Amino acid sequence: MRLLIMGPPGAGKGTQAAAVAAHFGVPAISTGDIFRANVGQGTPLGIEAKRYMDAGEYVPDEVTNNMVRSRIAESDAGQGFLLDGYPRTLAQVTELDAMIEETGHKLDAVLVLTVDQEALLGRLLKRAEIEGRPDDTEDVIRRRLEVYAEETEPLISVYDGRGLVVAVDGMGEIADVQQRIFDALDTVAQS
Ligand code: AMP
Repeated sequence: MRLLIMGPPGAGKGTQAAAVAAHFGVPAISTGDIFRANVGQGTPLGIEAKRYMDAGEYVPDEVTNNMVRSRIAESDAGQGFLLDGYPRTLAQVTELDAMIEETGHKLDAVLVLTVDQEALLGRLLKRAEIEGRPDDTEDVIRRRLEVYAEETEPLISVYDGRGLVVAVDGMGEIADVQQRIFDALDTVAQS
């Protein structure tokens, strides 16, 4: 299975991505996690990414695309993957299409977690308190939501036009959301 998980910041993508990836036996690849690991290790990639992340802006496409290209070429992703947080721009969609096509595969589904917009800010502020992420101050959170609406939300229509979107209600208990996701994706996997 080659899957994407999409939804606004605070929709619970990371939590659900891990469960879905385990269910299908593929790695969950989170560009945000890879950037954070690089920031933590002080690599050149991390140093470059940090200034964008801290401001709630997107890391430039070229940097992000190259990182994803090499990650999905690793052997554990040979049978498939679940991408969390990528693609986020139209340019990244085009690049991902090329990467997948080069391997002779196709994308199976784009899981979209739908959430109540009003709940997002509260969820993100709570997560900021718990995890202490440097990009989780209120101003930066607001900017991340804005950038998502401008740059990433339009991608849902692109994938919808291809018939790939599986929309799941992301509100409520984590376990309930997970069950809804499995039910929806198992139908895709059988088709
Ligand atoms: P996330 O954990 O997915 O919310 O990502 C945290 C931050 O990493 C984002 O706010 C961006 O600064 C950066 N980032 C993650 N994925 C991407 C991407 N696909 N394109 C550009 N920047 C990204």
